[in-house]
Amino acid sequence: MKLRSLLLFILTSILVVAHAKEIALTFDDAPMGTSWHFESSARTEILIKKLKGLGVPPVIIFANACNREDSASVILQLTKYKDAGHLIGNHTCSHPRLDDIGFEKYIKNIEQNEKLLTPLLMGVTFFRYPFLNESIDEKLRDEVRNWLKGNHYKNGQVSIDNDDYIFSSKINRAKQNGKNIDYKKVEALFLKHVVGAAEFYDSLAVKTLGRSPKHVILLHEMDATVMFIDSLVNEFRKQGWNIISAQDAYQDEIYSRQPKNTYTNNGFIAQLAKENTGETFSYNGDKETGAELDKILDLKN
Ligand SMILES: [Zn+2]
Repeated sequence: MKLRSLLLFILTSILVVAHAKEIALTFDDAPMGTSWHFESSARTEILIKKLKGLGVPPVIIFANACNREDSASVILQLTKYKDAGHLIGNHTCSHPRLDDIGFEKYIKNIEQNEKLLTPLLMGVTFFRYPFLNESIDEKLRDEVRNWLKGNHYKNGQVSIDNDDYIFSSKINRAKQNGKNIDYKKVEALFLKHVVGAAEFYDSLAVKTLGRSPKHVILLHEMDATVMFIDSLVNEFRKQGWNIISAQDAYQDEIYSRQPKNTYTNNGFIAQLAKENTGETFSYNGDKETGAELDKILDLKN
């Protein structure tokens, strides 16, 4: 009997190891404005072209239609994602933090975005909370959860949070300050940082759930992420990750769970881990990477 249990344990372990880690890509805050590196619509077109060339299945673009005053041009730009087969999700119109503005204003902001995005939305829509802030107040948290449920929205949960946006803001600051940027070095750090976050939250998931779930990574439609998306996808694949569609990832049963705690700002795996253990977990890379990046870019902080 003991031998049989041992064999079963070994077999299960082999299956867990052999199981390809699955990950879906999502891009927030689209469309980003023109920067020191890209004109806004050129950035969108480059991302679409790269995703197609890489054979990445449909992603979700979490859009803020109020990113520009000229909403007609915003919709036109976002339509390019839809035409390329990607989904558009609601990320509020002007990206407020729920805890800063409360229920009424928050819902109005979601509705304003929905109205502008109407031609691009279909059936059940994914909603992603700006800053992953679902409120630290349980009553407010539940009010918004219930509203979303009653209004055909599904929470666009994030299992891998990683602050990729710091790369874009720092390379823009460096460029603005006339620094000579070593993009190869920035790229190497970007890969180490983002793939490191995926590995961190995947092993936390295995500890918490006993298995590797279908992951959803939060990325941004921003300069560095768009510049390095090809090497990132290639690196993921090299490390044994399988890129799946966002819709497929959200079929995983974990995304229908509703933890009681309000620890959401480091993503859903960290929240589930807190529910199980009472401990808080976050990817350390965020702080270390910022300092390392400052060195590469010769920035003060
Ligand atoms: Zn956002």
